[in-house]
Amino acid sequence: MNILLVGAGLSGAVIGRELAEAGHRVTVVDARGHVGGNCHTERDGDTGVMVHVYGPHIFHTDDAEVWGYVNRFEQFRPYANRVKTTARGAVYSLPVNLHTINQFFGKTLHPAEARTFIEALADHSITDPQSFEDQALRFVGRDLYEAFFKGYTEKQWGCAPRDLPASILKRLPLRFNYDDTYFAHRFQGMPEGGYTAMIARMLDHPGIDVHLHSRFDPDRAGAYDRVFHSGALDGWFGFRLGRLGYRTLDFERFTDTGDYQGCAVMNYGDPDVPWTRITEHKHFAPWEAHEGTVCYREYSRAADADDSPYYPIRLVAETALLADYVALAEATEGVTFVGRLGTYRYLDMDVTIREALDTARQFLDCAATGQAM
Ligand code: UDP
Repeated sequence: MNILLVGAGLSGAVIGRELAEAGHRVTVVDARGHVGGNCHTERDGDTGVMVHVYGPHIFHTDDAEVWGYVNRFEQFRPYANRVKTTARGAVYSLPVNLHTINQFFGKTLHPAEARTFIEALADHSITDPQSFEDQALRFVGRDLYEAFFKGYTEKQWGCAPRDLPASILKRLPLRFNYDDTYFAHRFQGMPEGGYTAMIARMLDHPGIDVHLHSRFDPDRAGAYDRVFHSGALDGWFGFRLGRLGYRTLDFERFTDTGDYQGCAVMNYGDPDVPWTRITEHKHFAPWEAHEGTVCYREYSRAADADDSPYYPIRLVAETALLADYVALAEATEGVTFVGRLGTYRYLDMDVTIREALDTARQFLDCAATGQAM
């Protein structure tokens, strides 16, 4: 069959690869001048450091098949993310762990004591937390919430944490030991040659044609047997029902020599610091040696029509609009919406790959049996 993939990010590359290997003819278009979507990496011209151009991406998963899949296309080096946060004139480790708790409260608690201590600070009147704020108050209490989460989240999402879903905070663990790794997943690592090299290799198949700088007009979808769209869901429909809210990021680059901040990611929890975090990319590749260093201050703001969308906001108030777009998508024959932007969900890379593999398999099964997808 003749397949079109709109978007050369992870979803497009995985689906494209799977379908091309199964013998289908795949065309991939992307409006940008590179493959990789928002995972794109490239070497900094001045320092030679591999930069995560659209912000830090750290690969982590419990899914053995997904881990095997990415390792097929690029060698992964061991890398465990450790994040620090600067708040109220001190530096703490995240996610909130025993060190954070003891440092913040000036204590020397052991794990069981810390659990009891935090339980006493938690707001037990909240029984079924729905919002980000309720989730924080219920599990870490007001002091830690205000120091580490409130200001950062207001900057990152541009709204009050009480208007955001609890699921955003549930991304972060709370630990009563000194484990300060950001993710608890079994498999974690960094692609040695960058994400773009990995994705380019996925797309490197005789059955796949990639067209960059190429914007797709949905009116031409009928020219293909099936389209997979990984761009913005509302964008496909020309925003005809209104705009779903996305956050976009602005990056302010600066260089230094040696080591600027001693870690890859330093968050800034205070509301009066305008950036959310500073990323020093050389620390993502500790096996490389560079004299210079390049850092990016990251600022978050509402995405305008011409901006790259990064984060779907999914405000409670947007649920109805999203449901209307999902209904439109389901009624659109021949087009499957995939990935973070295509399904308007806050997906991590491993989940994106898992869903892309499942979507490709479902398509191949249906194609083999002649069923509608
Ligand atoms: N968060 C926070 N303070 C921090 C780090 C994270 O309040 O120092 C909140 C914030 O709302 C963020 C969410 O937790 O959007 C998820 O954080 P994660 O590190 O997963 O964000 P990402 O790396 O995807 O931007």
